[in-house]
Amino acid sequence: MYTAASPTAAILPGRRSESLVWRRDDWRRLPIRQQPSWPDTAALDAVRNRLATLPPLTSVADVRRLEVSLAKAASGRAFLLQAGDCAEPMDASGAAAVRGKNRLIGAMAEAISDRTGLPTVTVGRIGGQFAKPRSRPTETVDGRELVAFRGEMVNDPRADERLRTPDPSRLLGAYRASKAVLNELYIIAHETAVRRLPDAWPAPFTTGHVDEAGLVRSWDGSLRSILGDYGETRRSPSGGWAHTGLWTSHEALILDYEEPLVRRDPQTGEWFLLSTHMPWIGDRTRRLGEAHVAFHAGIANPVGCKIGPSTTPDEVVGLCEALNPTRKPGRLTLISRMGADAVHDRLPGLVRAVRAAEHPVVWVCDPMHGNTERLPDGRKTRRVARIAAEIRGFFEVLRDVGERPGGLHLEVADGDSAECVGEGGPMSAEEIGDGYRTLCDPRLNEKQSIMIADLTGRLLAR
Ligand code: PEP
Ligand code: MN
Repeated sequence: MYTAASPTAAILPGRRSESLVWRRDDWRRLPIRQQPSWPDTAALDAVRNRLATLPPLTSVADVRRLEVSLAKAASGRAFLLQAGDCAEPMDASGAAAVRGKNRLIGAMAEAISDRTGLPTVTVGRIGGQFAKPRSRPTETVDGRELVAFRGEMVNDPRADERLRTPDPSRLLGAYRASKAVLNELYIIAHETAVRRLPDAWPAPFTTGHVDEAGLVRSWDGSLRSILGDYGETRRSPSGGWAHTGLWTSHEALILDYEEPLVRRDPQTGEWFLLSTHMPWIGDRTRRLGEAHVAFHAGIANPVGCKIGPSTTPDEVVGLCEALNPTRKPGRLTLISRMGADAVHDRLPGLVRAVRAAEHPVVWVCDPMHGNTERLPDGRKTRRVARIAAEIRGFFEVLRDVGERPGGLHLEVADGDSAECVGEGGPMSAEEIGDGYRTLCDPRLNEKQSIMIADLTGRLLAR
C-alpha cells in the first residue's frame, strides 16, 4: 500500500502530481507545530545521523501482527486497551517499573475480557512516550518564566533554566531508554510463553510413544500458537483470560527523532516507523496539510489520531482519506477526547461522517484529556466520575449511530498514586498530599484503573 512508488496526492495538498512519492523528510517542507527550539542545530544534525545508524527498536513482523489485532478491534472481534504514563520517565526504564505497568494493564485487560468474552489487545503508552505537546511554550514557576517541560526526550522537568533548555543529546537518551523498556517487555513475553508451554505439550510426551517427526510438528504448532497471539488476552485452560504482553505506542511528536527510525521493509519496499509499534498523532498536531499528518501518512504502521471537540466532520473524513486511503481495517484508530460534557454534542457528527465515507476505523475513547481541571495550587487533576461519564457517553453515541466502541485509551499508574480525585483515591484536593508523582498529566491509580476497566467491560457486555 504505502510503497515508495505510491502516489501521495492526499498527503501534500496542492501538489497532486502522479509522480510524487512519499519521502521520510517530506514533513520538513510543511508547517509544523510543537517542536522545541533546539539551541544547537549542528548537534541536532549529528544526533539525527547517529540515530539513522542505530538498529530499529521494533520489527516489521510485530508491527504487522499488531495491525491484524487492530483489524479485529475495528470489526468488534476484539477490544483495544491503550494505557500508560502521560509522560514516561526515562529513569523508570528499569525492570521493576516495566513489570509494574505490564501487570496493571494486563489485569485491566483480563477484567475487560472476563466481562466480554472477547480478546483485549494491549498497547502501552510505553517504550518511547517521552515527548509532550504543551498549550504554552513557557510556564511560570515561583514567579519565574521557564521554558515548558516538553518530555524527557527534550528537556528536564526540574524548574531550572539551564535544565529546561532543549538538549538534542536527549534524543539518544530516549532511544536507549526505549530500548531498555522493549528489552524488558520481550523478556516478560518470553517468560510468559515458556510458562504456557506445558499446557500445550504434545501427546507423545504424555503417551510415552515417541514419534519424532510428530513431536517436532506439534512442538512447532504449540510455539506458533503461543507466540502468534502475543499482545491479546487469550483464554487460559482454567477458563479465565490471561494477558500475554504489551505492544508499545507513543505520540510521534518530535519528528527529528522519528524520521531516522523510519526504515524500509526490504521485502515489500514499504516504510515502517520502527521506534514503536503504534505511533499516534496528538490533537494539537492533527491538521491536514501539516507535518505530522504527512509523516504518518507515509508509514505502514497502524496509526492513531486524537480528535478533540474542535474537530469537524470534514476534517475527520480528511484525516481518514490522508491516513488510510485504501480503507485497510486496523490501519487507523481514532481516539475521541471530547470531555464528558461535549461527547454527546461533538462525537455523533464525526462518527456518522466516517461511517458515511465507509472508513473502517477503531473507535477509541480517551476519557482523560477532555476532563482535566486545575487544583487550587495550580496542579492538574481529573475526577473519576467525569472519566466514567465520558466512557458511558462514548458508548451511547457509538451505539446510537450503529458503530462499535473499539477501545479505551487511559493514563494510568500502578500502585497507590493520588492524582485523580474520586473513588479508589483521594476524595478531595486536600487528600492528594504527596501521592502526586506524575511528570505531566494526572493518572488513574491502580484501584481506579481496575474500576474503570471493569465498568468498560460491563458496558461492552451489554
Ligand atoms: C496525551 O495523550 O498526553 C495528549 C497530550 O493528548 P491530546 O493530544 O489528546 O491532547
Ligand atoms: Mn496526557
